[in-house]
Amino acid sequence: MSLTEALAQERRARLAAERLLDAKQAELFAANKKLSSHALALSDEIVEKREEVAIVRTEAEELRGQNSRVLSDLEEANHAIVIAQRRLWDSVETIEDGFAVFDSDNRLVAANSAYLSVFDGMECVAPGILYNDIIHILAEEGVVDIGNTKRTEWCAEMIARWRGEQLGSRTIKLWNGGFIKLVDRRSENGDTVSLALNITDTIRYEQKLKEARSKAEAANRAKSAFLANMSHELRTPMNGVVGMADLLAETALTEEQHLFVETIKSSGEALLILINDVLDFSKIEAEKLVLHPDVFDLERSIFDVVTLLQASIQDRDLDIVVDYDMFLPTRFVGDAGRVRQVLTNLVGNAVKFTEAGQVLIRVVGLPDGESDDFRVHVTVEDTGIGIPEEMIDKIFGEFTQVEDERNRKFEGTGLGLAITEQLIKLMGGEIWVDSVFGEGSCFGFHLTMHAPDGPVTDLDSLPDWISRVVLIDSQTPGNIILANQLNMLGIEIWRPEEGIKAGDFRSGDVLLIDNALSDGSGIDHLRKVRQSGCTAPAVIINADPVMEFLSGDQPASAQPKPLSRRALIATLARMQPEQAGSVDGPAPQLPSAPPKKIHRKMRILAAEDNKTNRLVFSKLVKALNIELEFAVNGRDAVEKWRGFQPDLVFMDISMPEVDGKQATQMIRAEEAKSGLARTTIVALTAHAMEGDDTAILAAGLDHYL
Ligand code: ADP
Repeated sequence: MSLTEALAQERRARLAAERLLDAKQAELFAANKKLSSHALALSDEIVEKREEVAIVRTEAEELRGQNSRVLSDLEEANHAIVIAQRRLWDSVETIEDGFAVFDSDNRLVAANSAYLSVFDGMECVAPGILYNDIIHILAEEGVVDIGNTKRTEWCAEMIARWRGEQLGSRTIKLWNGGFIKLVDRRSENGDTVSLALNITDTIRYEQKLKEARSKAEAANRAKSAFLANMSHELRTPMNGVVGMADLLAETALTEEQHLFVETIKSSGEALLILINDVLDFSKIEAEKLVLHPDVFDLERSIFDVVTLLQASIQDRDLDIVVDYDMFLPTRFVGDAGRVRQVLTNLVGNAVKFTEAGQVLIRVVGLPDGESDDFRVHVTVEDTGIGIPEEMIDKIFGEFTQVEDERNRKFEGTGLGLAITEQLIKLMGGEIWVDSVFGEGSCFGFHLTMHAPDGPVTDLDSLPDWISRVVLIDSQTPGNIILANQLNMLGIEIWRPEEGIKAGDFRSGDVLLIDNALSDGSGIDHLRKVRQSGCTAPAVIINADPVMEFLSGDQPASAQPKPLSRRALIATLARMQPEQAGSVDGPAPQLPSAPPKKIHRKMRILAAEDNKTNRLVFSKLVKALNIELEFAVNGRDAVEKWRGFQPDLVFMDISMPEVDGKQATQMIRAEEAKSGLARTTIVALTAHAMEGDDTAILAAGLDHYL
């Protein structure tokens, strides 16, 4: 090879080596670069891992701490459980009653000593024993006193009870006279907790209470019987005293003697009221008072009470006014006697404590629910002396009277309102009072009563032809109420001025004239109106019973005071419309009852052993046109009945030899035997306790007074 070639070859080799070197250098550089970035990442990872290791280490340390805490807590909890269990059992052990738990297989899990004590010495009764076996042991070992029940029956019954859905409590008697009440309850997990309560003391106490109660009841019966006898014994002589004083008052007496006799009479009457009040109150106290509900007319009861009290206010400037809701029925179911007693007390008090002004009895009512029951409100409002505020709360208490110089003069027992309140309560109602001292009082009560005829009133019976009432009256509260009531019936009211003429009247008019006018009597007014030629039908209100006759040539219907809604409507309904041509037409005639033909006097036989009572009786019936015969005992009564043939017999019950009941039975037997008509026999007796009437009526008497 030439040198040139050799040089060229060497140069090529060198160049190639240089290129290779460059390439290797670039490779090395790239590798270095990769290596360094790898190393960087690696070092980051190392740092991260190191941190993680540190966290894990701390967590591990914490866990270790927690673990040791949990361990110690667990230890504490275990300790607490042991203590709680011990305390629980200590407590269960200390109770005197038996306590046991049975599992769902009815095996005894645990029981306290009290439970086990009845099985003293029987080691088989221990945790694990079946409930059925316990029952058999109880019966067979004579632990329980099962009386005459067969052992098998008793066990079967006890086991059936245990298996039943509802575990009702059960009392068992032990051999030693003790009583255990078993109260068992099933828990949700099927266990049954059984309590055996020792109720020996309670049962003994109940026994004692029962004995004490029957003793108290016997004492109460004795008290009632004593009261009945006492009231009978007191009433009879007191009736004699009052009756005799009454007779004596009619004899020739000096003024002074007359005063003495009147005092005897009024004191006697007061004593009779007191006896009745005390008797009523004791009966209510002893819960002996029974209501006798029947259909009665409330409005009539009110008017009866008012009529009775009217007599005592004749000489006073006092009006008793009744405002009975026009749209309220009057017939209700209730104890008429007791309702009347309540009304008599409230209206009686109002009249007693009101010198002048008015006593307003207002009755309103609304249907109570769907039925025909009505809630009836009655208020008795007076313009009397009133009750001091501090006494209002006490006024219904027994023997409470306002001690004040103004009412000290009034008689009374202080029992009336107490009895009234009790009666209202007994009837299911409520009573209240409002009063302003010196101005007046308002007593009110409400009762819910059934209306047997439904919500009907007698408003429908009002004749259509009446369109206007010409009212000649003074505007007293009673007349204002009357006008209101007429208005409510759809009737126009016209109060004419002085000097009315026939021409002022129109057909369909009815004339209503108040007899108690300040400027002369109603009769005079009627006369004037009639003289003017008016023949409109007329009613005189506030009239005396004889007014109808007095009005004679000026025909008019006369209505006494106060005028009830029923009487008002009945009077209007009876009216005949005026004939056409009012002025000249014939005067309307009032329908009058046909005269009764009397053949002979009524014969009355009164059997009464007490001479004074016989005298009082004859005095009571003195004014009657009757033939009266007395019998002095039951035997005499039967004999007199045969001979005298009375229409009516009044029969005393307590009589010597043959009493009233026996005498009646003898009469009834004879009537039946001889086919005679039944004679009405009325018991007239002071046996006025609850139930007396039943026994008396059962003996064949027809009525009881
Ligand atoms: P009595 O009327 O027999 O005394 P009550 O129990 O009926 O007994 O009444 C108790 C007292 O309540 C009366 O004595 C009287 O002081 C007072 N009182 C009752 N009603 C009224 C009334 N309408 N106005 C004023 N005081 C009354």
